[in-house]
Amino acid sequence: MAEAHQSGELKGIDMPVTPSENEEEYFARQELERRRRIAEEGKAARLEEESERLRLLHYMRCPKCGTELQEVPFGDVLVDKCFGCEGLWLDHGEVEKLEMKEAGFATKLLNAFKR
Ligand SMILES: [Zn+2]
Repeated sequence: MAEAHQSGELKGIDMPVTPSENEEEYFARQELERRRRIAEEGKAARLEEESERLRLLHYMRCPKCGTELQEVPFGDVLVDKCFGCEGLWLDHGEVEKLEMKEAGFATKLLNAFKR
């Protein structure tokens, strides 16, 4: 009785492969895929944890000197003021708010905040 052989490639070499070897390869590939998926999920979770850790560590801290920022309202703009290095910081969208103000608003703001 002639045994059925299939041709499979391994590193470019043609080798006769029996159906049971194909099965072994199939299950090994499935297992590798499953473990790769778990590893990738773990990696994504670690990145998310690291991002959250950094957010908590740096939240409302001056990006230049690390001093805690104080929110000081000026009109409808909330300026994040650093009393460590005298820096002024604006949240996303606040520069655009300033841009909409009348001419001279930025000068008024700077005069109010300078020492
Ligand atoms: Zn600072």
